[in-house]
Amino acid sequence: MSENTPGFDTLAIHAGAKPDPTTGARATPIYQTTSFVFEDVDHAASLFGLQAFGNIYTRITNPTTAVLEERVANLEGGTAALAVASGHAAQLLTFHALMTPGCNIVASRRMYGGTINQLNHSFKSFGWDVKWADGLDAQSFADQINENTRAVFIESVANPGGVVMDIEGISIVAKEAGVPFIVDNTMATPYLCQPVKHGADIVLHSLTKFMGGHGNSMGGAIVDAGTFDWLASGKYPMLTEPRPEYNDMRLSEAFGNMAFAICCRVLGLRDLGPAISPQNAFMLITSIETLGLRMQRHCDNALKVAKFLQSHPAVSWVSYAGLANDPFHQAHQKYCPKGAGAVFTFGLKGGYEAGVELVKGLELFSHLANIGDTRSLVIHPASTTHRQLSDDQKSAAGAGRDVVRVSIGIEDVADIISDLKQALEKA
Ligand SMILES: *Cc1c(COP(=O)(O)O)cnc(C)c1O
Repeated sequence: MSENTPGFDTLAIHAGAKPDPTTGARATPIYQTTSFVFEDVDHAASLFGLQAFGNIYTRITNPTTAVLEERVANLEGGTAALAVASGHAAQLLTFHALMTPGCNIVASRRMYGGTINQLNHSFKSFGWDVKWADGLDAQSFADQINENTRAVFIESVANPGGVVMDIEGISIVAKEAGVPFIVDNTMATPYLCQPVKHGADIVLHSLTKFMGGHGNSMGGAIVDAGTFDWLASGKYPMLTEPRPEYNDMRLSEAFGNMAFAICCRVLGLRDLGPAISPQNAFMLITSIETLGLRMQRHCDNALKVAKFLQSHPAVSWVSYAGLANDPFHQAHQKYCPKGAGAVFTFGLKGGYEAGVELVKGLELFSHLANIGDTRSLVIHPASTTHRQLSDDQKSAAGAGRDVVRVSIGIEDVADIISDLKQALEKA
């Protein structure tokens, strides 16, 4: 390649991948094997002691997965990445490396519902507390921080859509508190936004969504930006204390600006175990090659659909940062100028019943609880994902009785709009 830094689409196709050294295969082969033969006893010993990089067992490393990891690290501008079984596994391994009982995470309330559950229930049962920032501004994060805080956690473009966070403002709060700033970049993808450029120390992904993009493979990723000084902070024993099982090695000293990714691999994946299958890694590598094309089409379609809905008499409001009058329009122009994503919400004048009828009447849209598929998706949260909540709780979560959430696919936009039009007429 030339001396110039390759562009995004070039990296999306080439980063991490070379023709297979033994067969010449141009596409990355699926190394569907659990284990790898050692050259000799000394080689085995150096792999187990972390003195040499190499493959031992697919729970910890695999050559197909390694291509996915290098590609995601490159696209996000990080020093290293780790691919795991799902987005939730990425979150589990990240906080496993940072937290001890009695410590807390300061997190945004505007997050994926599954993440709110994971933090509120399972993480609390580990003794990891969560303090929710009430507002979207940097100050509401600063207000929650205390001496036991070990991380600040947000989504760049937040669920259920329309919200683009003040990434730089909140990064300053984390920096002042001396804790890593963790950004879930699932909804934006690195095509739209690279949180490392705006102060993120760790970037997380559910690769299941737009990165995979076809609704067929689960996966997650942890990207180490290499920016956080673990030794200076002294609050993260897993990274800085000697590890007896690795000859008293201190990971932060031995691995420098990749220490966090290595820690999640050699302690997190080793002990907790949520490895991605080589088959799924292959599916995700393939999908990422077209990420730029797909995301641009998703965003272009979403903006046209949002404008159509905004002008429709049955629709009371549309929350999409791509619309000029949206409260998050400026943040969108600053952090993800190529597009505001493809997931957004709108309200129906006919309330709960109209929401249910709209979902029933749609033919092209699939009614399901996912985002980031090539296909257009719809859900009425009040009658599905959020039905167990009270009306007040529903509204606080952005899932009031009239709210419909869509994830706009990459079909012909005229067909998406005409499907909405006929269903709105029926509703
Ligand atoms: C889906 C999702 C997750 C969880 O990822 P899984 O791959 O489903 O485990 C985390 N964060 C966001 C923003 C998501 O949309």
